[in-house]
Amino acid sequence: MIPFHKPYITIDEITEVLDSLRSGWITMGPKTIEFENKFREYIGSKNAVSMNSCTACLHLALKAVGLQEGDEVIVPTVTFTATAEVVTYFKANPVLVDIEENTCNIDASLIERKISNRTRAIMPVHFAGQLCDMDEICAIAKKNNLVVIEDAAHAMPACYKDRKVGTIGDIACFSFYATKSLTTGEGGMATTANDEWADKMRILRLHGISKDAWKRYTGEGSWYYEVEAAGYKYNMTDIQAAMGLAQLRKIDWMWKRRKEIAASYTKAFAARDDIEIPYVKADRESAWHLYVVKLNLDKLSIERNQFIEELKRRGVMTSVHFIPLYKHPYYMTAFNYNSGEFPVSEAIYKRIISLPIYPGMSDEDVAQVICSVVDVLQKFSS
Ligand SMILES: *Cc1c(COP(=O)(O)O)cnc(C)c1O
Repeated sequence: MIPFHKPYITIDEITEVLDSLRSGWITMGPKTIEFENKFREYIGSKNAVSMNSCTACLHLALKAVGLQEGDEVIVPTVTFTATAEVVTYFKANPVLVDIEENTCNIDASLIERKISNRTRAIMPVHFAGQLCDMDEICAIAKKNNLVVIEDAAHAMPACYKDRKVGTIGDIACFSFYATKSLTTGEGGMATTANDEWADKMRILRLHGISKDAWKRYTGEGSWYYEVEAAGYKYNMTDIQAAMGLAQLRKIDWMWKRRKEIAASYTKAFAARDDIEIPYVKADRESAWHLYVVKLNLDKLSIERNQFIEELKRRGVMTSVHFIPLYKHPYYMTAFNYNSGEFPVSEAIYKRIISLPIYPGMSDEDVAQVICSVVDVLQKFSS
């Protein structure tokens, strides 16, 4: 069986985590700060604020920019629920925009018609690890006085023109969930050039207690603290940060391996007319968090769901990213979206399958995935 995902954990992570456990300091502390600093240096952003998830980062990013009840936030149709869920925390409204057919990223040309006088922010999601059209999106935001909060959950360590993810929009939020390209089990990081927003997020992530609250149990700190805001319990722990430090040291190698696997899939499928490979725009480099193929259903006698079952029978586990938000019962009832407004998402949803892609895959694993996909395509060709 080839699992859909397996985190790349070696003795490096184990050693760092043991070091935290032995040190006696297991919650937020020196390793969390070191991880933030190393991450900030790697990305090239002014601030990096760690939290216990990307969802927490997205929430506090909206909090930092002052989102209010009744406001609207532009979100793509094809994303994980977290992107829109955080908007609902404020009793604000996620306004959905359809995706581009080729990249599955938000279609920047459709954004402006969805902007109203209640719109406060755009939340582009870098689908599968390829960055959105950030120049266009940032220009629209500037013109309409909106902030850009990037859902960069898939995007570590992608780049766009000559810039790294995390240095482009107003705030970028990364995920270190178990399946993501850098993992701490659970975890997230918000990067921003804006010191004021970064400080707000730092305070809110730990109960609204004034800065460096975590130091109150160290020799450097003091027992006295002041609560400045109604905050949250969103801090990262040193055990998570220990894993993050080890993962960050090999992020370039892990990225290289993902690129190799993507290149193998692309080479195997590019010439076929029954399957479409991921499209990457020339001016950017994907993180290759996901490798999403689109079936050309008119060339096949089976549907996507059966295709997934056939791959499973051949020992290859896959997934679907994502069920469009407006198809979920909660979003359907709460916001009454009209699926007819999103023709591209509707058509693509029926065709997509995410193949396994992670650094721990051997060349034999990759070959087995390719053989299995080709076998199913040939067996069910119409
Ligand atoms: C994984 C994911 C998130 C949430 O990340 P967590 O760290 O689990 O909170 C948000 N958005 C997208 C697109 C994701 O894939």
